[in-house]
Amino acid sequence: MNYSIPYGKQFISQEDTDAVIEALHSDFLTQGPKIAEFERNFANYIGCNFAVAVSNGTAALHLALLAFGIKKGDRIITSPITFVASANAALYCGAEVYFADIDRDTYVISINSIIQLLKTHPKGYFKAIIPVDFAGYPVNLEEIKTLAHEYDLLILEDACHSPGGYFMDSANTKQNCGNCNFADAAVFSFHPVKHIAAGEGGMITTNDETLYKKLLILRTHGITKENMQLDFPEPEKQGVWYYEMQDLGYNYRITDMQAALANSQLKRAEEGIIKRHEIAKKYRKAFDATSIKIQKYDSNYFNAHHLFVIEVEDRKGLYDHLRECGVFAQIHYIPVHLMPYYRQFGSKEGDFSIAENYYKHCISLPMYPTLTDKEQDYVIEKILTYCCK
Ligand SMILES: *Cc1c(COP(=O)(O)O)cnc(C)c1O
Repeated sequence: MNYSIPYGKQFISQEDTDAVIEALHSDFLTQGPKIAEFERNFANYIGCNFAVAVSNGTAALHLALLAFGIKKGDRIITSPITFVASANAALYCGAEVYFADIDRDTYVISINSIIQLLKTHPKGYFKAIIPVDFAGYPVNLEEIKTLAHEYDLLILEDACHSPGGYFMDSANTKQNCGNCNFADAAVFSFHPVKHIAAGEGGMITTNDETLYKKLLILRTHGITKENMQLDFPEPEKQGVWYYEMQDLGYNYRITDMQAALANSQLKRAEEGIIKRHEIAKKYRKAFDATSIKIQKYDSNYFNAHHLFVIEVEDRKGLYDHLRECGVFAQIHYIPVHLMPYYRQFGSKEGDFSIAENYYKHCISLPMYPTLTDKEQDYVIEKILTYCCK
């Protein structure tokens, strides 16, 4: 048997295909009814008031920061263990990026390193923080909110890995990732390796109506037909064609075809999470009582399991061995502060020792709803024979 098993993979059903074809045959290829329908359903799924669909997750990060008013000279905080886009979005706004180290066991940004960073700078030095629900592990935003309140920070949750994840807050209430009960806004991605595939696509969620209206305008060039700023004395100059560009926005629109696909995929989101949890449970059981370290498992934190990450002694060896066996594991992530582009701002090896040590040992195993039992058994066997011989 010749296996070829990736770390993540989308699943397109007949229903998904039909939904896209229907959108193709409709009057709208873009800016049609499927977008609003997807936004409504997604807001419902996450449990927030507003959702704005955009062209990808990176555009979602950029627009959210713009709507926060992040500009040149501002400073934001994020985790070094994330996809580069979480940090890049701040650079797009002309802001500077500061990193805080991760937690050794959960791999998400550590509260203590955030406190260290905040305490060693004057109040008001940082404008916003972008916590990332890494691998699907929910950041405790209630704790971050307390700090944000004290230090006047805006919170943008990067929930690209965590639709369907949640944590239990101090009142034992379930807080869905991206519901914005503690954050000012959250972002999601619909890239095919993520939970919900649109081809390319992204979403910003928020409960703040002012922010929501800004996002709608920024998504399409800063153009609007509502709340005109200019006052024309002669009404004949303002026909129904009239619109105003009130801000410098972008073309970050998603198409109706993509929204139709994502909307159809959303119907299987719950099912997908259940499958991911079955897979995670089996991995946990297989690696229990071995030298293999897994991401922290805590019943108060429901991991959405975009990834299943383990740490092993000989990571390079295991990665190469798995490749030879047709198992294409992946490394998430090379710390952002060590990227050549980020080193120009002064960061270097040794700055964030926990993140750097994590990076030396981490490897993401196959994790997607259509991974079969047989395939997972094969992956586990290859890992155990290599690491625990
Ligand atoms: C995928 C991802 C993004 C960017 O999403 P795109 O849709 O690929 O632009 C941002 N942050 C994280 C953590 C991601 O995994």
